Formats: sequence, structure tokens, C-alpha cells
Amino acid sequence: MDGHASSLRELWFDPAQVFIGGVWRDVGAHLPLEDPSTGAPIGQIARGGADEIDAAVQAAQAALAGDWGRATAAERGRILARIGQMVLARADDLAALEASDVGKPLKQARADALALARYMEFYAGAADKVMGETIPYLDGYTVYTLREPHGVTGHIVPWNYPMQIIGRSVGAALTMGNACVLKPAEEACLTALAFARIAEAAGLPKGALNVVPGLGEEAGAALTAHPGVNHISFTGSVGVGRLVQGAAAQNLVPVTLELGGKSPQVVFADADLEKALPFLVNAGIQNAGQTCSASSRILVERPLYDQVVARMAERYAALRVGPARADLDVGPLISARQKEIVEGFLGLASGDEIVARGQIVGDAPKGGHYVAPTLMAGLSPDHRLAQDEIFGPAQVVLPFEDEEEAVAIANGTAYGLVASVWSENGGRQMRLAKRLRAGQVFINNYGAGGGVELPFGGTGKSGHGREKGFEALYGFSVLKTVAAHHG
Ligand code: NAD
Repeated sequence: MDGHASSLRELWFDPAQVFIGGVWRDVGAHLPLEDPSTGAPIGQIARGGADEIDAAVQAAQAALAGDWGRATAAERGRILARIGQMVLARADDLAALEASDVGKPLKQARADALALARYMEFYAGAADKVMGETIPYLDGYTVYTLREPHGVTGHIVPWNYPMQIIGRSVGAALTMGNACVLKPAEEACLTALAFARIAEAAGLPKGALNVVPGLGEEAGAALTAHPGVNHISFTGSVGVGRLVQGAAAQNLVPVTLELGGKSPQVVFADADLEKALPFLVNAGIQNAGQTCSASSRILVERPLYDQVVARMAERYAALRVGPARADLDVGPLISARQKEIVEGFLGLASGDEIVARGQIVGDAPKGGHYVAPTLMAGLSPDHRLAQDEIFGPAQVVLPFEDEEEAVAIANGTAYGLVASVWSENGGRQMRLAKRLRAGQVFINNYGAGGGVELPFGGTGKSGHGREKGFEALYGFSVLKTVAAHHG
């Protein structure tokens, strides 16, 4: 595809090590790593803790005081561009790594690798285009603003989209000249380490990026509590988000929280159903529904309701679930625990309320964490299945009578991450875009997690702060006002 494909194997890294200050090293304690497609062990990773986090923060501070702190915006952009090219050239290897680590079908894992490359390309181009402004002020003054890095930024990443989330958060932070300490998820950290190895080979100065795998309550908690960290970016669950914000409050540092969602797609009777149908289903089952911006609620205007339920049911019945390498529609969930949580939710639906289920293929390994995609209807909008984030391949279809009711149901959960409107009526599209409570609204499409260029983030329990796009560069920097009096 790119004519210069090369292998990750030529860039050696040991998955059981941490990467601190440009040095790969052992920590003496390990955590097991499992392939979610089989449930079998596939190796071990480092169990970093408070000591490694402290060393990583010190290495980041040293980088800021050294070459990395002195790099110009153009030089930072050039390094990011090189990282992007190297990621692109190794997209297949990175996809294979992510597929075995997270369990996602290969083509979805490859899309994540390409998104990581796109983040690097986008931020490489943006690095030297973040400008301040001059402000008219009193006679005899010149006033201007500067955008400066926070300093050391902490990045806590979940297991569902490691490459994409590293791209959007570490990519934007490096662009603005911060030095990063990355704590990937204990369930899936291989591409975080591979990314660090690529960044090292691309010439990123020592200490500008440090990676410490480990448990959330050990390495993660140590990172959020560390007084040397100047900004925290957290993606994960609401419960841990609360802990992270609490820890950040102790050090009075800013925090960006990207939490969960219960995102609706609102389908009006005048919608182009053929166009909508693939989005309605795919946005719910992509990555086995383990997507913060998954669309888990489909709201349908009454005249179209029965038809949408029937057409979605047809698609569900055709969905095939199996190991990542088989590259089917849906892979396994990340862990036995996640499968238990999702099955617990699905157990709340009665037989009548389950309209259709996909098929787990016969030769799917017995130890894999497979759950058949499940379409539900006939539930009240207040039902837990229509209110809580299931984080599995499951969607609920809910009818509505008119625009008012559509908005009330759509906005009627604690979350507000993404929403979409399916209608051919321009006025309705604009009204809904304003009234829906969400960080992103799509009209006649749905972009679960997509769009490197598009600012993304939540309201309510979905979190606060914005990542992705140019907007992220403001979040990963602080504004300084300079007022010069020259008479
Ligand atoms: P999680 O909150 O348990 O873990 C996320 C990360 O936080 C992991 O790296 C984990 O090690 C770390 N962590 C855990 N405890 C910690 C602590 N006490 N202090 C500091 N760090 C800690 O979430 P999860 O189960 O890995 O991911 C699923 C959840 O994440 C879902 O609710 C999903 O909606 C949300 N999510 C949101 C987004 C988004 O962009 N909004 C993206 C992916 C996942």
C-alpha cells in the first residue's frame, strides 16, 4: 500500500519491560497477559509501581530541561511526522499485535493502526501552527499571548482502543512540547510499548515519552497522585474517573476525563433508512461494543419503528462472532470479567425483549470471551438496559412519537458523548443538533471514535475536556499573557 512496508520485528522491544528516560528495563515484578480470543496466556508484562512512576516523572522533567524542552515547534512536528511514517509502514504488524492483545478483528485493529498514523500526521502538521494573539490594550502597551506546555503530562489509557487513544492524547501533548508519562491498561499494553519503540527510533529525545505498564491501583494511582505531574488525561470508567479527578484536585492540576456513554441515534420517519441501517448496527457492535462512543440506543419515530426493528434484527442474525484472526464481524470481549458484566446486563432482558442475536462460530476457541451480539426492544427508556453503559455488543431500540419526546429520551441518561440524527428535514437536523446533549452530533452518519480532526469529549458523566483535532492542542497547553509597557 505505502510501498515501504517494513516490520515491527526489526524494532525489538521486550513486552515485560518499562521504558523510562530512553532506557528499557526490568522491574522485577510481572503481570500475566492473555489472548482474549483463546483465554490462553501469551506472555507477561511489567508490573510497574510507584518507584517506576517516580523515575518516569523525573525523566520527563529532565527531558523538559534538555533537548526536548529546547526543540522548536517545527522540530517537534518533524519528529511526529517520522513517527507517523513508521507507524504507517508497520500498520500490519501493529494490527496483529493489537488483535492478539485486545481481541479485535484484524481489519478493525488495522483501522486503529492507520488512525494512530493519522494522529501523528495531523499533529505533525499542526505543531508550528498554534499561534497566540495580540490584544489591543492601553496606550503605550503591546500585549500578546503565548501557548506553553503544561510540563509533565500523565496519560492513563484503557484497553479498548490503545492505539487510537495514545494517538490522540500523547500525540497532542507531544505536539505542544509536553513530556509524557503513559500508563497503558494492564489488559492490553503491547502497542503502547511498540509505539514507544517507534518513537525512540524516530528520534524522539529521551524522556519525552515514558511508558510504565502496571495495575491501575498501583502505577495508575501513583501517576495521578504524583506532585511532579502537571496535567492528567484519563480515558476509562466513571468510577476511576472520579478517583483521578480527586487525586488531581490534591495537586490542583487540570484533568481531561473521557468516560463512557449511552449514545443515541435518533431516526425520524423521513430518514433514508437504507443509508442509516449499516450505521445503526455497526456503531453498536464495532469492537464488540467496547467503545465509549458506541451507539447503544436507537430511537425510532413510531411509523418506522417496526420496520427498523425488523431490519436491524435481520442484520443481527447475520453477524458472526469469532477469534480476532478470523476477522469476522465481532471478536471476543477483553476478559472473563467483562464477559460476566455484559452477560449480567443481558440477563435483565426477558425472552420477549431480546429480538435477535448474532452467532458465535462453531470453531471459536472454548476459552475465548465471546458474547453473541444482542438486539433488544420493548424496554422502557428508564430500564437499566436503556440507561447504563453495557460495554458489550448490545443495543436497545426505543420508539418515540415526536421531536419533543425524541429529545427527552435522547437526553434522558446521565451521559452525553455522541448522538446522531437521521432525517432528510434540514430544519429538524439543525434543531436537534442544538438540543441534543453530547460532545459530538452527527447528521445522517455516525462516527464511533472516528475523525482524527474532530474535537471529541463529553458532557455529564461522559467527562469533560476535549481531545482530538486542533482543540486538543489548547487543552494540552497553557495560555500566558505578556503585557509590555514601552511608553
Ligand atoms: P478503567 O477505568 O477500569 O481503566 C482505565 C485505565 O485506568 C486503565 O489503564 C487502568 O489501569 C487505570 N486505572 C484503574 N484504576 C485506577 C486508579 N485507581 N487510578 C489511576 N488509574 C487507574 O476502565 P476500563 O474498564 O479499562 O475501560 C472501560 C471504561 O472506559 C468504559 O466505561 C468506557 O466507556 C470507558 N472508555 C471511555 C473512552 C472515552 O474516550 N470516553 C474510551 C475508552 C473507554
